[in-house]
Amino acid sequence: MPMSKDQFGRKIDYLRISVTDRCNYRCRYCMPEEGITLMAHEKLLSFEDIEFFVKVAAQEGIKNIRLTGGEPLVRPHLADLIKLLKQIEGIEDISITTNAALLPRFADELKAAGLDRVNISLDTLDPEAFKYVTRRGKVEEALAGIECALAYDFAPVKINTVVVRSLEQDFESFIKLAYEKPLSVRFIEYMPVGDSAGFDETGWSIEDTIPSKELIHTISELGEKMGLGPLERLDDNRVYGHGPASYYSFEGAKGSIGFINALSNHFCFKCNRLRLTSEGELRPCLFSDLEYDLSEAIKTRDVEKTREGLTEALKTKPLDHHDRIGTDRLMSQIGG
Ligand code: SAM
Ligand code: SF4
Ligand code: SF4
Repeated sequence: MPMSKDQFGRKIDYLRISVTDRCNYRCRYCMPEEGITLMAHEKLLSFEDIEFFVKVAAQEGIKNIRLTGGEPLVRPHLADLIKLLKQIEGIEDISITTNAALLPRFADELKAAGLDRVNISLDTLDPEAFKYVTRRGKVEEALAGIECALAYDFAPVKINTVVVRSLEQDFESFIKLAYEKPLSVRFIEYMPVGDSAGFDETGWSIEDTIPSKELIHTISELGEKMGLGPLERLDDNRVYGHGPASYYSFEGAKGSIGFINALSNHFCFKCNRLRLTSEGELRPCLFSDLEYDLSEAIKTRDVEKTREGLTEALKTKPLDHHDRIGTDRLMSQIGG
């Protein structure tokens, strides 16, 4: 069996790396407001550690890297890591998932380092609601980040919007955004993972997950009301994260609208990824707490042990999440 395939024959060529568990925001569904035990700095993988791991992983079939967190842009000198990863043979694409608040500050060096693409998280365009969700953020920061991503051509620029029923998000403003700008706005089903991570400050539950099917209907009706005509399905369907994205657009729109079935319609059989936590634990599946601690193998540059860890992770990658949606760790620790 070639190493890039797992036990079920799925081709695994995508690695999400959490570069920090720290964040400048405290989104309600992701992190508690206070009292998070942050990882000791000395446990964090250094850039050279990550470079070593990615070199081994690339030899085993990993081609695409996404840097995430926590907030990847709060990790000092992130561009230096991108420079290192960009030079690794076999790595084709490097992207980040970010709340974009710090993007205007670092875009220049990230572009020069070779960053290919950015995904920006933005759950609402309403200033008050944005403050409520993120606890520490301002919507203007996200909007400036989006403009910056477009200006620097980190294309395609994708917007990740977690949809929560009781937030009563203003979908019209997202439709407008995707109509007027070359952005791919992707609505992601909310995953109530906080419970098993030992915090639940949202008061939200599974009832707050709006299934993509229902949302497609809502967006379609809203679009018609706004005079944009019918919502048309595009051919461009791809697996994203823990579910497939189906893409739609309105005629004449500059951007598109995607729907990601994180929960309601699992396409685990198409899963293509592994996750590496910021301390060096390799996690075969988002919703399984099985992890392989490769920190020592990585820090001692033990190629064989690191390769063994990768092989084990692929051998034990579950077929799906068996309807489990919780994790014992925070999303900010796993890397979302
Ligand atoms: N800080 C960066 C950001 O917010 O884009 C990267 C890390 S964040 C953990 C990655 C993604 O996970 C974000 O798009 C966030 O909205 C999503 N996320 C976190 N908790 C979630 C939850 N309970 N349900 C659905 N998505 C979640
Ligand atoms: Fe930070 Fe991203 Fe989690 Fe929000 S979703 S708290 S921005 S890591
Ligand atoms: Fe892959 Fe696990 Fe997500 Fe399914 S739940 S798509 S197997 S990471």
